[in-house]
Amino acid sequence: MQIFFMVEKVIIIGSGPAGCAAAIYCARDGLKPLLIRGFQAGGQLTTTMAVENYPGFPSILGPSLMDKMYEHVKTQSCTVLDDDVSKVDLNNYPYTVYVDEKEYKTYSIIIASGANVRWLGLENEKRLVGKGVSNCATCDGPFFKNKDVVVVGGGDTAMEDALYLSTLAKSVTLIHRKHEFRASKVMQERVFSNPSIKIIWDSVVEDIMGKEKISGLKIKDLISGKSKTVKTDGLFIAIGHTPNTDLFKGQLDLDEEGYIETKDFTKTNKRGVFAAGDVQDRVYKQAVIAAGWGAMAAIDVRRFLSEKQLI
Ligand code: NDP
Repeated sequence: MQIFFMVEKVIIIGSGPAGCAAAIYCARDGLKPLLIRGFQAGGQLTTTMAVENYPGFPSILGPSLMDKMYEHVKTQSCTVLDDDVSKVDLNNYPYTVYVDEKEYKTYSIIIASGANVRWLGLENEKRLVGKGVSNCATCDGPFFKNKDVVVVGGGDTAMEDALYLSTLAKSVTLIHRKHEFRASKVMQERVFSNPSIKIIWDSVVEDIMGKEKISGLKIKDLISGKSKTVKTDGLFIAIGHTPNTDLFKGQLDLDEEGYIETKDFTKTNKRGVFAAGDVQDRVYKQAVIAAGWGAMAAIDVRRFLSEKQLI
């Protein structure tokens, strides 16, 4: 007995800039994509403040930019699922994408599942999340008006968080494990010229103190090896991201940090499976670049389906 099932031409996993761009391009190619938006629809930009480097938008809030992208997707012939992918089977073709118990067969997949914020991994960190420990200055900053806060990290997020918090908090201390930041020059300069931001170089947070809420940090100077206590009302952790690739472990080639390995631009090691945006980009991590990757993946999907005479 033959079993007939519907096979999608392309499923797009994730709805940040990469996923949205991929959806728009695939839809305009008549592929009628299925876009599975994921647990954090809109991706990381939904927790970002002002975006000032997306062409066409001199200054726009991250969530507003993602709303605009999603509005654009909805003008296209694209099916959208506001759900999470629970499992994928990339060992049998057509591939299967599971959303809870429901199965979707597909000839191709664009993975645009992005990356998630990283934590310090300290024992007291999880316990004190929401009690002074945060990874989102935009979300939690207003709770720290006229308080003392610490930001950890040396990238653009840490700079952005420190600058934003300096408009609210009584004091901002930026702790970084090196003696130089990796953030863009313009952001560094803004931090250096802000008298409310104090910088502690070459130091790491060893412990977070406080019972019901955070009271201070134990920090270690990596040069002298000495530890000291810093009193604080808040700790904002801004130390980068971990790619959302758990679903693909053991099925796709990942690098040592978990990013999807791609070659010839968006191709993964499985035919018809493409990756776009922060899930495979460990270097640039910019919305505009992620969107570009999404468009590239969509074009690669079209070529793949056409070569296989599936369209
Ligand atoms: P990054 O990966 O750029 O920076 C992470 C920072 O955290 C680094 O300074 C790193 O230190 C430090 N770090 C990592 N792990 C630890 C740890 N366990 N303990 C202490 N410190 C740690 O992440 P960001 O989130 O800052 O930025 C990601 C990307 O997004 C970047 O490309 C950035 O430019 C972009 N971005 C752009 C913005 C904008 O344009 N408005 C705003 C925010 C981000 P080390 O340097 O030693 O490795």
